Amino acid sequence: MFVELIDTLRCPVPHENAADSWLVAAAAETVDRHIVRGTLGCPVCHAEFEIRHGDVWFGAEEPVAAFVVPSDDDVTRLAALLAVDDRGGLYILDGAWGAMAAAVSGYSSAAHFMLLSPPLGCEAEGTLRGAGDLVPVAAGAARGIALDRHSAALAESAARALVTNGRLIAPAATPIPPSITVLARDEQHWVGELSAQGSHPIPLRRAGR
Ligand SMILES: [Zn+2]
Repeated sequence: MFVELIDTLRCPVPHENAADSWLVAAAAETVDRHIVRGTLGCPVCHAEFEIRHGDVWFGAEEPVAAFVVPSDDDVTRLAALLAVDDRGGLYILDGAWGAMAAAVSGYSSAAHFMLLSPPLGCEAEGTLRGAGDLVPVAAGAARGIALDRHSAALAESAARALVTNGRLIAPAATPIPPSITVLARDEQHWVGELSAQGSHPIPLRRAGR
């Protein structure tokens, strides 16, 4: 886990006051600014999450995705759909999408890639495992997220993690979160972006006031 990405993580445990909390890292072993072994602790609920072999473990059941070597076309398409460019930013790839992380990172030297439950053999600056139907990062932290699992709760959580106009790819059957405007779809996936209203709700006012 690249130390700079730890600031973007949020405690996955629901807190009583509904506030998100960042996680505090205690590193037991660090190599080139990557924590290989250690713990992340929540200052609010005191939950602790282990970092093992560089991966953060959040405790939920871990799905198994198969590593499929991506074609150049697949990588180009993913980079285009997620709008990976020189502006950089954080991108999150779920499940089997993680196999494209190393190749798609070639489209932007300024972008950071974090993987959710990737197959073994994927390379990225951060890997999260056992996060269940949550994308445990700060609201507005990500410029693009590609979901492999088809889960309404995961899609909602991903939408919340996006910056305005951030891109979300999900399996075609996934319900579209209300904050997402779909840009394109085919039999396999839809791709949408977070509309401005989605990230900053406009307060409704009573008529005549
Ligand atoms: Zn907590």
